[in-house]
Amino acid sequence: MSTETRTTCPYCGVGCGVIASVDDSGKVSVKGDPDHPANFGRLCSKGSALAETLDLDGRLMTPEIAGAPASWDAALDLVAKRISDAIAEHGPDSVAFYVSGQLLTEDYYVANKLMKGFIGSANVDTNSRLCMASSVAGHRRAFGADTVPGTYRDLELADLIVLTGSNLAWCHPVLYQRIAAARAARPAMKIVVIDPRRTMTCDISDLHLAVRPDGDVALFNGLLAHLARSPALDQTYIGAHTDGFAEAFATASSLSMADLIEATGLPAMQIREFFALFERTEKTVTCYSQGVNQSSIGTDKVNAIINCHLATGRIGRPGMGPFSLTGQPNAMGGREVGGLANMLAAHMTIEDPEHRDRVRRFWNAPTMAEKPGLKAVDMFQAVADGRIKALWIMSTNPVVSMPDADAVKAAIAACPFVVVSDIMRDTDTTRLAHVLLPATGWGEKDGTVTNSERRISRQRAFLPAPGDARPDWWQLAEVGRRMGFAKAFAFASPAEIFAEHAALSGFENDGVRDFDIGAYGDIEEAGFAELEPFQWPQPAGTGRQETRFFADGRFYHADGRARFVAVEAEAPVRISSDFPLVLNTGRVRDHWHTLTRTGKSARLSGHLAEPFVEIHPDDAANLGISDADLVRLESPHGHVIVRALLTARQARGGVFVPMHWTDEFSARARVDALLPSITDPVSGQPASKHGAIAARRFAAGAYGFAVSAVKPSGLDATYWALARAEGGWRVELAFDAPLCDVEAWCRVHFALPDAAESLGYSDRASGEARIAFFQGDALLLALFLAPDPVSVSRNWAIAQLSEPHADSRTRFAVVAGRPGAGRSDPGATVCSCFSVGVNQIVGAVRGGCLTVEAIGETLYAGTNCGSCRAEIRGIIDGCQVAAAE
Ligand code: SF4
Repeated sequence: MSTETRTTCPYCGVGCGVIASVDDSGKVSVKGDPDHPANFGRLCSKGSALAETLDLDGRLMTPEIAGAPASWDAALDLVAKRISDAIAEHGPDSVAFYVSGQLLTEDYYVANKLMKGFIGSANVDTNSRLCMASSVAGHRRAFGADTVPGTYRDLELADLIVLTGSNLAWCHPVLYQRIAAARAARPAMKIVVIDPRRTMTCDISDLHLAVRPDGDVALFNGLLAHLARSPALDQTYIGAHTDGFAEAFATASSLSMADLIEATGLPAMQIREFFALFERTEKTVTCYSQGVNQSSIGTDKVNAIINCHLATGRIGRPGMGPFSLTGQPNAMGGREVGGLANMLAAHMTIEDPEHRDRVRRFWNAPTMAEKPGLKAVDMFQAVADGRIKALWIMSTNPVVSMPDADAVKAAIAACPFVVVSDIMRDTDTTRLAHVLLPATGWGEKDGTVTNSERRISRQRAFLPAPGDARPDWWQLAEVGRRMGFAKAFAFASPAEIFAEHAALSGFENDGVRDFDIGAYGDIEEAGFAELEPFQWPQPAGTGRQETRFFADGRFYHADGRARFVAVEAEAPVRISSDFPLVLNTGRVRDHWHTLTRTGKSARLSGHLAEPFVEIHPDDAANLGISDADLVRLESPHGHVIVRALLTARQARGGVFVPMHWTDEFSARARVDALLPSITDPVSGQPASKHGAIAARRFAAGAYGFAVSAVKPSGLDATYWALARAEGGWRVELAFDAPLCDVEAWCRVHFALPDAAESLGYSDRASGEARIAFFQGDALLLALFLAPDPVSVSRNWAIAQLSEPHADSRTRFAVVAGRPGAGRSDPGATVCSCFSVGVNQIVGAVRGGCLTVEAIGETLYAGTNCGSCRAEIRGIIDGCQVAAAE
């Protein structure tokens, strides 16, 4: 017997429905919800592995004050007192909340209400500022509201999909799969990818435009000028529903083709091909994500894209429109409650006195914020210069994710009072807290999230809260009550919060604001428990329907018209002879944010197990860097040490480094420490995709690789990176000089029992050393050391942790670092779902499997979530090229 709960994935903005089953023994399994309209049963590798991330290892279970366990009463009293004291002594603006797109809407709503209506400041900002603030600002400039016009269905109905600044295959994998399936059914559908890197998303593209970083404004300005001179221009629509076309066209048309080539780095033929395709395809959707948003000209990029859709009237109708893809599971929900420092609740504007008055009356708020608060980067600068005296961080890790991350770390460390609510005890940020509050995590908490297509879905609890963990909304409401606002924060459940949020959205609305879910303003517990996914708007008195905005040409500026925005194409140039490479940051397929959850899964950690830099082979050759070398990347703000991954997918002159690694998982790989705190002047979003850096080979005196049954601690190595592995951990290492006493070093760092038997080998001439420790027939630790990066097969070594080693033959095979006779090495993981390695796929190709489908039939690889299908296709192509040479 098992109980099933319908809930929503906690990772990306696709917002897939998940069915979680708990059996009699408490074991959890997950599968895609076939009835959820976001995914229709599909899940990606991260969603499929959710059940592997639910253990309580490392969980924060009880409140702590100054590192010591405390009662909830003591912790909450202290938080309320310190916030009240700060307000009394320094005013409301001395308090700040830094929250997260991981919060549920109900958590977000209470945080926003407490700060903006009762503390009297708007200093509540969110890590969503790092993700989609430029989209919000672009939407508001063009539409008069933060409205995503289309739906996921439009991606299947389109004849042309333009993906710009989006590695959809890895960052929104289920949407990628939906598009891939639509294209397979309708091969005439065209896909254009605009990205400086040739990412896995290019696997389904007809055209890849390897645009220069920040060259997108020029490209879309060029497109607007081209469209304006073509039959695709919809003058009737422009005249009836928009303003500002003449100015936008004048700015856009000032670029010659030579200017475009210079600004974009693209050949004229490719530019013309893209323009012609866009011109002749009415059903066009342009999707944009972090590559557009995370820029100092991100808002201009968004408006440059929207300008092209307004000019052709391609908006609000099936299969067409601009489409912002949100990174986080509830960035949209946060926007709806006003979770950004420059917004009010329910898509109202903080600068508008009527809006402020309306929200004040609805909340019966004593001290409404009168002006926008501090956006994320400004907020941490205010922490650094002492203006913020009390800071509450919820469900996020700014010491890792903020630009100039080392400066942010120092600022938080110096703040007089820091509260952190989190599910994990030990993160880069919790280490700096005065008060720690244990939060509930996915599977334990209850509420709603909104995905990229405005669909509100329930996250439902199916596990008990561990220890003393409590939901974030409860923590906030308790602090509100303790500050003297008992009535306003008398929430007893998420259903009550959702009902108030819905009622506020419909309060004095009458269609003048886009966000209206007034139909749920009187929802009760039973209705909330059974709430089905729905798209907003749903004003009071209306039923469920799939909705698009702007089909009628009515926008949310006071005059009802949309705005073209004239945007200059000039991209900032920041590289110099000292820092000649452009740093691009982003996500990998199987990890999420700062690894606190996906880092628990051995399967997910197997795909890319250590921090790396993708660098073009020509750039690497110029710098004397070889594949698998360690590389030191430097900027004026800091440095990291990461593994070199040479690939022609990366354009020359730039490098890519993933954003996930923290001080918990690596010695020095917090990539945001390299980035300057430069922000978009309109949205305040940091330019995380564009930093100038230098790279050089990091020459270590010795390199190492270890597999261990237990997690090592306090590693005193120049470089280390940890990842979960089946049966234990894998550890990459480098040292300034060879270790003098290898066995002693192992015993100190890997908590080996005295009784562990060791077997070793060392060759002073070659600099190689291997040592393994056994207890009974179990391998506890195997360490391989060499003067160059160690070439032992990682997956083979990891497998040894789960195999018996009772006899000397198998023990010597471990020390030899290679499979014994009759054993094979699967190679690096490609398919996480079925743990299939590259060597197995190559073997199958050599055996005659020449399609992804044939590989799937033989090895199952690629047949579950499908996230690895592009890589499998790459391996097949690589084998065929090699065979032909
Ligand atoms: S695409 Fe993957 S990570 Fe995103 S919501 Fe769906 S299952 Fe979760």
